[in-house]
Amino acid sequence: MNRLAGKVALVTGAGRGIGAAIARAFVAEGAAVVLAELEGATAQATAREIAAQHDAAKVLAVPTDVTQAASVRAAVDEAARAFGPVDVLVNNAGINVFADPLTMTDDDWRRCFAVDLDGVWNGCRAVLPGMVERGAGSIVNIASTHAFQIIPGCFPYPVAKHGVLGLTRALGIEYAPRNVRVNAIAPGYIETQLTRDWWDSQPDPKAARLETLALSPMKRIGRPEEVAMTAVFLASDEAPFINASCITIDGGRTALYHD
Ligand code: NDP
Repeated sequence: MNRLAGKVALVTGAGRGIGAAIARAFVAEGAAVVLAELEGATAQATAREIAAQHDAAKVLAVPTDVTQAASVRAAVDEAARAFGPVDVLVNNAGINVFADPLTMTDDDWRRCFAVDLDGVWNGCRAVLPGMVERGAGSIVNIASTHAFQIIPGCFPYPVAKHGVLGLTRALGIEYAPRNVRVNAIAPGYIETQLTRDWWDSQPDPKAARLETLALSPMKRIGRPEEVAMTAVFLASDEAPFINASCITIDGGRTALYHD
């Protein structure tokens, strides 16, 4: 408890799934948290639920579209007004865009990059000046195992996620002298609406889910809370020398050559 006491955090896409779990874990560890979520109503509902379990004075929902730099800047400003300067940013908002490269529309390409890569950059750009000035800060980017592995038919999502890893490493190095750490987390399959939507999009959703389970060395799907625990660690003062790194949370799947 209180591993993030006194810290102010902003988590994008925190209305549900991994982002909501991270926001909940951060508040439980004593941080004040802004849930920067596209859908205002979803963010409000999650914020109310976290406030009821923990400290209502430490939770604020701010409707935010990560594809719009001005929207992210406004959320950071609102966080500063409510709680103080942002110490921790989690760039979590993301969408699946899975298509065939040659039949994919230009809109699919742009939609994917607008959220999955520009969104992360917009977040970093909004908090970095303050972090650099204060000489402290932690940015955690939620990448994916798609940031270094490829599954056919998932284009261009892995291209954007490779970019998130590149951005993490580049910014981690740029701002290391100012004590600003930039790290990534690469989750494998985690049980969220995003994953359920993907299973449901398959011809046989039940079989698709079982296939995912069979791929996992631990024979299970990960939980959002398991990603949140690592986000707490990277955000905290327990990881002062971890920078420009990526922690994989996939039960060992990407280490497996083949069964
Ligand atoms: P969910 O779809 O459950 O949640 C994503 C959240 O991001 C939603 O609340 C969504 O809001 C929000 N969001 C989408 N677009 C925007 C935007 N433009 N601005 C602000 N918020 C936005 O996904 P997960 O929790 O599963 O995924 C979270 C992150 O983890 C993503 O970056 C994803 O790529 C990554 N990831 C997930 C894995 C998994 O297996 N679940 C595996 C690897 C990586 P709304 O509902 O209002 O659209």
